[in-house]
Formats: sequence, C-alpha cells, structure tokens
Amino acid sequence: MKTIKVLWRQSSALLCRNIRPIPFVCANSLHSSTKSPFFVSHTLLPEDINFPTNLPHNAPNQLFQLFCSESSLNTMLRRCWNCKISPTSSELFLVCNSCQCIQPVDPSVDYFRIFGLERKYDIEGSSLERVYKDWQKKLHPDLVHTKSESEREYAAEQSARVVDAYSTLKNSLSRAMYLMKLQGVHVDEEQTVSDPELLAEVMEIRESVEEASNSQALKLIQAEVQEKMKQWSEIFAKAFRVQDTEEAVRAIHRMTYYKRANEEIVKRL
Ligand SMILES: [Zn+2]
Repeated sequence: MKTIKVLWRQSSALLCRNIRPIPFVCANSLHSSTKSPFFVSHTLLPEDINFPTNLPHNAPNQLFQLFCSESSLNTMLRRCWNCKISPTSSELFLVCNSCQCIQPVDPSVDYFRIFGLERKYDIEGSSLERVYKDWQKKLHPDLVHTKSESEREYAAEQSARVVDAYSTLKNSLSRAMYLMKLQGVHVDEEQTVSDPELLAEVMEIRESVEEASNSQALKLIQAEVQEKMKQWSEIFAKAFRVQDTEEAVRAIHRMTYYKRANEEIVKRL
C-alpha cells in the first residue's frame, strides 16, 4: 500500500510541476516476476501528459491499471503505439507521421482540433468540408484494409469521431451547444422556456404553418424562420465572444425553437 501511495504522489506531482523524467514501475511487475518493470525514458513536458481528470480520489488501483496498460501510457505520453516516436507538441496525433500507423482515439482532442480550427463560433464551412474530405480519404476502410486488425479498429473509431465532429461543427446550433459544453455549460435542449416573447412568436409560426395552403407559402415561412435562426446565431456569436453565458444560453434556446419550426415545415413540404 505504501508503494501505491508513493506512485500516486509521483503522478500527482507530475500534474503540478514540470519535472525531470520519473521511472514509473508497472503494477504488474510488482506482483509478477515474469514481467520486468518498464521505465519511461521520455522527457516529460506538461503538454505530453494527458491524464484523465475524472479519476476518483481513492482510485490507486485504477491508476495502477492505467500505468500497466501500455496503450494508455502511450496516450498519456503521446507516443505512437507502434514505433514509440512522440509527435511534436502541436501536431494532431491521429496518424503517426513517422510510421503512418493509425492511432487510437484521443478523447482529449476536441472537435475543433480535429479540423485544425480555433475554438470559436465563426468558422468557414469550406475549410470544414475540405478537412472532412481529407480525413475520409485517410481513414477510408478501403485504404486501411491491408493494415493490422488493431489499426482497422482504430481507423473505424477515428472515422466515427470525425463524422461526429463534422456534423456537430457544421450545424450552427450544435456547434454553439458544443462550444458551451467545452466551457462546462450544459444547455438542456428540452428545457421549457418561459420567455413570453418567444412563446408568442412560436405560436404565430405554428399557426401560419398550419394555415399554409401550399408549398410556396411554406417556403416563405421557412425563409423567415431561417432568417431568425441566422440573427440569433449572430447574437450567440457575440455573446460567446464576450463570455456572456446567460445571453449565449438564451440564444441557444431561441435557435432550438427555430430548428424545430424548420423541421415541422420540412415535414409538410
Ligand atoms: Zn509511429
């Protein structure tokens, strides 16, 4: 138990200070003589360390398992699982530039980084599209079918993550919600809004949709709804820039209603 505490203390120290390489002893090696301890000879930099932040405080066993799994260790130290080479700190690590091996999903890489974008609301749709196509090519099953089973699995996971990232960032509402989530603010889409101005507007849109006699009339209402969506998307952008959380959340609620109204119109078209 003493060793556990020492290891825990060493790892905690790593989180707090930039220190010289520390030998980590695999927990298995403490219990089995067949495995020799492995040591981390890599010089640790703060950006190299990708510790999970949600470990329970009383989780030395989980921490041990973490150290014992070489793939977890590679993720933490950002080393290629195959050739063990570390990328430069600014490099996105989905494919190793040295051996071209596909890497496991790194959940600490957010969707904006996948697309090489700054974490901001206003993004260029064309650059999103271009990078998405590049990723699709690199991770396409036809291109990785000759690779090892692990790499094919990693490619499938990476590919699913890229698709999630693309659909989240492409849509103005989901992008806004994702940005807030990255800031630690969860916006409940289902939350009932009591803003009387918005409720009156929603009623009005609903009535005009129900009364619309043809697709031309519906398209006119749709154009209005899309314009409203654009306006509130701009309000969100401004609120996000000045870190006005209340206004940003308000804008998201508005956008949620316009999205639903649009879906209703599309159903009838
Ligand atoms: Zn490699």
